[in-house]
Amino acid sequence: MKLPDFAEFEPFQHLRLTMGARKAGHFELFNAAKHLTGRERSELDQQGKRLPLFKIRRFADLTWGLKNTRLVVYLEDAADYHLAQCLVTAGWDSSQAVWISTRRTGHLPASGKEASRSVCPHCLQLLGYKGFDLQRNRKIAYSKNLISTFSREEFFHLYTLYPVQGMAERPSEKLA
Ligand SMILES: [Zn+2]
Repeated sequence: MKLPDFAEFEPFQHLRLTMGARKAGHFELFNAAKHLTGRERSELDQQGKRLPLFKIRRFADLTWGLKNTRLVVYLEDAADYHLAQCLVTAGWDSSQAVWISTRRTGHLPASGKEASRSVCPHCLQLLGYKGFDLQRNRKIAYSKNLISTFSREEFFHLYTLYPVQGMAERPSEKLA
């Protein structure tokens, strides 16, 4: 039997605060500034969300985030998506509107439409994902195969989608 997670059930949290029951005990009190709400999580998974780039967190491990959740980042009309702060995303203006999603499989949504997008090789190179390296001759075939068989589900297993804990942020300077 799966019990509901009341630690993330907002009306319950509100009630607790109204009652003055501030001690979290074994619970971690839901903090909407740090955690995505149920509605935000569902939006990121189903419709995606459009935000200016500067609103997105740059985690110290070079991935992207919103609150304590990792993200896929992409432009509306682009054929690829980004998992890291790669040289392509470094060329974007901080006011650039980007789409973000947490969807682990299949097409990525933008403006009510879903499109097939492929993973950005620069992101995999930057992260050294599973030994990805297109700059070494002996790894080129392996790396190309990694792109064609890439699974976001597996990626978000290695780079936990949620919750990302104790992750410092990088200043938003551009990568060379
Ligand atoms: Zn990229």
